[in-house]
Amino acid sequence: MKELIPLPKSYFVRVRCPKCGNEQIIFSHASRVVRCQVCDEVLARPRGGKAEILAPQMEKLGAKSY
Ligand SMILES: [Zn+2]
Repeated sequence: MKELIPLPKSYFVRVRCPKCGNEQIIFSHASRVVRCQVCDEVLARPRGGKAEILAPQMEKLGAKSY
């Protein structure tokens, strides 16, 4: 019997830029630095699997598994 490897759950999350208040949707497992589309503030940065989300999270938008 195969051992099941738990896959990291990924999801999208709406965050608010702490600097300018712009809301945008970012991926929980972003593999690149995510910047605010308005002011270029760093909102999330990759850290292994799950991204480190630096901005306040407003709402989680549906989980996706691969
Ligand atoms: Zn911003």
